[in-house]
Amino acid sequence: MISGGRHFCKCFELIEMRILRSLLHICVDFISIVIHPLYRLLSGNKVRILCYHRVYDLPEANDVMSFLNVPPKAFAWQMEFLSQNGFNVITLDEFIEYKGKNMKPPPKTVIVTLDDGYRDNYLNAFPILAKYNLKGTFFIVTDYIDSDKIFHWLKLEEKSLAHAQDNRQYWLPLRREEILAMNAQGACFGSHTKSHCSLTQIDESSAMEELRGSKQCLEGILKKPVACFGYPYGDINKSAKNWVQVAGYRAAVTKWGSNTLKSDFFELRRVPIGSQDSLAKFRRKVEGAYDWWFRWVLPFVILVEQIISRGQRRE
Ligand SMILES: [Zn+2]
Repeated sequence: MISGGRHFCKCFELIEMRILRSLLHICVDFISIVIHPLYRLLSGNKVRILCYHRVYDLPEANDVMSFLNVPPKAFAWQMEFLSQNGFNVITLDEFIEYKGKNMKPPPKTVIVTLDDGYRDNYLNAFPILAKYNLKGTFFIVTDYIDSDKIFHWLKLEEKSLAHAQDNRQYWLPLRREEILAMNAQGACFGSHTKSHCSLTQIDESSAMEELRGSKQCLEGILKKPVACFGYPYGDINKSAKNWVQVAGYRAAVTKWGSNTLKSDFFELRRVPIGSQDSLAKFRRKVEGAYDWWFRWVLPFVILVEQIISRGQRRE
């Protein structure tokens, strides 16, 4: 009886959290609509690095982590929007060049990044980027290149994994020849470690092995220096940033926000794009109307949620 009561309370709390989260997102969307014209005018000099993972038609029932997936159709109209509305799409290597010359990139500069190295990046995203003559920046988990194993972290996404097992040709890691084909068309490649481990959870020698090993692997394939790094899970601290610099990288991307030439290039911020984003919302994101949310409010909201869920676990 007591346990049934507790279960009821738990369900109620979860539903309450879901309702609160939905209400918060409605408010955030409303504010972004109101301030969009102002941000369009004032923040054109910011460089926004868009963050994608999979470009794949995942059925809604399997799409439990919507920020990890964008359907090819949506990706196509997003790239069409960028190419037809005066956006200057560059690679992260090109942003490093601007920094080296201390030269401001043109207004409306955007970088399109895709994490992990799913084969759908080659099969779905690359033809769309090529159609609009845009260059992507791909962060690759190098131990998986050419492997016929599904990425280990998909175990955390049970419903996606069930779908992935039946559609392996899109979900498997990229092959060497696919990386080379994209490289030949001007794509930029960066490391995402060897095994997709969080740099804040391992010691210095393991981190250096992950950072140096993955860099050497990509350089061996591409026959050119690799300068960019993407922190797995966006996890970062002072040591991780230092190790990335010591390993010879020149820029690294983490969690959310926008950038200027004066930003810390070992903590470049990104704008997540997900399957729930309409074209209007994508436009607001890419034109800065969510900058305030990603940079200042969302980290605070996540912190509050963590404190609440820790408290609930203790009860
Ligand atoms: Zn990743």
